Amino acid sequence: QIVTRFAPSPTGFLHIGGARTALFNWLYARGRGGKFLLRIEDTDRARSTPEATDAILKGLEWLGLDHDGEVISQFARADRHAEVAHDLLAKGAAYKCFSTQEKIEAFREQARAEGRSTLFQSPWRDADPSTHPDAPFVIRLRTPQDGTTVIRDQVQGDVTIRNDQLDDMVLLRSDGTPVYMLAVVVDDHDMGVTHVIRGDDHLNNAARQMGIYTAMGWDVPVWAHIPLIHGPDGKKLSKRHGALGVEEYQVMGYPAAGMRNYLARLGWSHGDDEFFTDAQAKEWFDLSGIGKSPARFDFKKLENLSGQHIAAADDAALLHELKGYLAAAKLPALTDAQEDGMGRAMYCLKERARTFPELIEKAEFVLASRPIRPDEKAVKQLDTVSRGILGSLTPQLQNASWTRDELEAVTSRIAEEHGTKFGKLAGPMRAALAGRAVTPSVFDMMLVLGREETIARLTDASA
Ligand code: GLU
Repeated sequence: QIVTRFAPSPTGFLHIGGARTALFNWLYARGRGGKFLLRIEDTDRARSTPEATDAILKGLEWLGLDHDGEVISQFARADRHAEVAHDLLAKGAAYKCFSTQEKIEAFREQARAEGRSTLFQSPWRDADPSTHPDAPFVIRLRTPQDGTTVIRDQVQGDVTIRNDQLDDMVLLRSDGTPVYMLAVVVDDHDMGVTHVIRGDDHLNNAARQMGIYTAMGWDVPVWAHIPLIHGPDGKKLSKRHGALGVEEYQVMGYPAAGMRNYLARLGWSHGDDEFFTDAQAKEWFDLSGIGKSPARFDFKKLENLSGQHIAAADDAALLHELKGYLAAAKLPALTDAQEDGMGRAMYCLKERARTFPELIEKAEFVLASRPIRPDEKAVKQLDTVSRGILGSLTPQLQNASWTRDELEAVTSRIAEEHGTKFGKLAGPMRAALAGRAVTPSVFDMMLVLGREETIARLTDASA
């Protein structure tokens, strides 16, 4: 069974790169009947905060990236990590090193002076244990000094590192705490992780992690190190780009499905497909479709996909998500009447809205109640002539059957009778019904509002 994981460090919000990493792991597992696990890498006590963990969980929830099993805390597993360090010691694959920080510095200085490699070579690597002092020590991994380590990466290909470029890394510090690199390997092994998809900023770590796998005789997971995301300017995106936490995208009003689609396309492709559903993404996602060069973040494309997902969404689901958007953006919640109106209008609102704010703008005609106050642009539509025509339209609507065809016929006839075209009447009707210039079609508004409300608004405006 395929097991993937997302292993964020809780030192900030869930940024866009992290969200994409999570999505890739989720898609890979979900498309293959596998498991997607979540591990919070909270070993850096000074920088990890519960607020950050919260923000990451919320971000994942909004994106709909559900994980299997409990959320694992890496810090809580420190004893297990230490146990593995001691196992390696017992096997002779690791050794106790008593060199103090001063000794290590002195070694480096001399190496520099002599033009040798400054990688620390511990004198304790081959020391007889009977000569060990009763002093603090760290546990170091006994790394082979010749040969190479090869990372079989699914994105980068085979990456070869000369072993003489790796020092004997510390596994357990002198205070008994495990280092991060050991924790990752032990956790991935214990969690049964088969595939690790993560940013290529971790590629160098993979060589070191490989040493631990080999020393323990554990299976190495399949690795896929994905290129980072760059900004539209080609520069690296970083956690420091404040506006790029995923929650910001919810506040900006992108639907989660559009965001998933967009993030999936950031660095992965399936032929020429741009718009796709979750089901398609799960079916299509594969490591071979991940590109080798950094993807560029592009708001235009996000907006475009977002609009397509809004148009394709189920009305009730969209209304539900809209309410989530309002809460996230700290906007007033819908009243029952507004919610009811939105529900009825959704079919026409979703047609050309790329974001929830755009959808709400078009929804003004159901959100507002009488008297409708036309905005600056709309007010210009309501000159004396137009008001007169609106006035003669209302009696005709009294007995019309409330269907699109009939409404079109009645409106066109009245326009003609006044020596004009329906096109000229649309502006004043929008102003009367919505108080806005940008609205759904006049007939959609009439159908959604119903006879009574339509006539009342037209009458108000013609007065
Ligand atoms: N905690 C690491 C990070 O946030 C990820 C480590 C990994 O995926 O192996 O970048």
